[in-house]
Amino acid sequence: MKQLKYSRQRECIKSCLAARRDHPTADAIYASIREEFPNISLGTVYRNLNLLVDLGEIRKLHCGDGADHFDADTSPHYHFMCRECGCIEDLPMEISQETNQLAQKYTDGKIESHITYFYGICGNCLKKKSS
Ligand code: ZN
Ligand code: MN
Repeated sequence: MKQLKYSRQRECIKSCLAARRDHPTADAIYASIREEFPNISLGTVYRNLNLLVDLGEIRKLHCGDGADHFDADTSPHYHFMCRECGCIEDLPMEISQETNQLAQKYTDGKIESHITYFYGICGNCLKKKSS
């Protein structure tokens, strides 16, 4: 019974994440999941998110703002983070094989992949500045 409750929580956390495109932190997921599970703790949400990462069902992003962000889209793709508001957008551009080849020149190991984050100011913040 306990097991069942835990997996229902995990399913709910996963579908909550899958429904959003904003790469939320554990705190943000916690805030929305609490409506359905009023007794759930932030620790439980965090544990379930990390379990889903370990299972390969979701992805964890480390963008350098000190918080873990989560992404239900596990396919390889780039991200763009706004240095003003901290939002994270998907960049649906092609993964650069040239970057792997370039990096390959500097190691006798075998480069298999890379993760790149782009930084700047998002469209919304740009609009606010110019208005
Ligand atoms: Zn912004
Ligand atoms: Mn993403």
